Amino acid sequence: FADRDGVIWLDGELIPWREAKTHVLTHTLHYGMGVFEGVRAYSTPKGPAIFRLKEHTDRLFRSAHILRMEIPYSKEELNEAQKLVVRENGLDEAYLRPMCFLGSEGMGLRAEGLQVHTMVAAWNWPSYMSPEALEQGIKIRTSSYTRHHVNITMCKAKANGNYMNSMLALREALDSGCEEALLLDNEGYVAEGSGENIFIVKGGVLYTPELTSCLEGITRDTIIQFARELGLEVREKRITRDEVYIAEEAFFTGTAAEVMPICEHDGRKIGSGKRGPITEKLQSMYFDQVRGKRQENPEWLNIC
Ligand code: PMP
Repeated sequence: FADRDGVIWLDGELIPWREAKTHVLTHTLHYGMGVFEGVRAYSTPKGPAIFRLKEHTDRLFRSAHILRMEIPYSKEELNEAQKLVVRENGLDEAYLRPMCFLGSEGMGLRAEGLQVHTMVAAWNWPSYMSPEALEQGIKIRTSSYTRHHVNITMCKAKANGNYMNSMLALREALDSGCEEALLLDNEGYVAEGSGENIFIVKGGVLYTPELTSCLEGITRDTIIQFARELGLEVREKRITRDEVYIAEEAFFTGTAAEVMPICEHDGRKIGSGKRGPITEKLQSMYFDQVRGKRQENPEWLNIC
């Protein structure tokens, strides 16, 4: 992945992709204290546009605030850097990865006197799952790993080290023939997927877990707004795994996963076992929105 053409924005400068390197004593590499975002740009009639850039950059700064990292750039500078990497790499659609990490000025957990570095890369990353999965849905399993606790690594920061838990859960799910994991919180209630929020549909009402033990997903927020626009009731509440088993529909949301139907959970078919009608409607609104085919919320599209 490191050996390719293109440019990466690092600490205020665009540098050749292959030269975007860091020292082995980079602090974040050792202890995982870093913050990042996963952002997407889609092709729209007005050119490539980054979806909800402001909200992603705001979350990056909130993550850094939680971890007491001071980002040495303004939000505007990082927004411009993100548009720039899409343009300079000649991308029509892109996945963007801004990340802030601690430098190699010293080791140890005190983490004093370390520089906060910032990078932004962008590349073509079509779909997280296969195109069939967007229609047919995926199989998931309840993870044997518990999701982060509010007083352990906390849940509001999109922090590098948090993803060890996600990767363990995802690997376990893949090894057991599923496509994704569903992690429960420390009290046993549904939290989220390895990199997605979850929704279920029951009696025409949309339910999603409260934000206690899951990331404040930007796709989650988008879907809640769409559902309200459709006149659907949305309730944020504690959800049990067996509520997912008996849901009429279930789906994941996330920048990478987009709107992904869930057809099976722990060997139990969800609803009809295929993408349900409400999921399909919300999914098509999402794709129309990100590709600039809807008139509503034009401020969500940031032309590069
Ligand atoms: N939860 C986790 C753990 C994630 O990594 C992500 C992806 N950022 C999400 C939920 C979904 O967030 P978003 O819709 O903002 O991408």
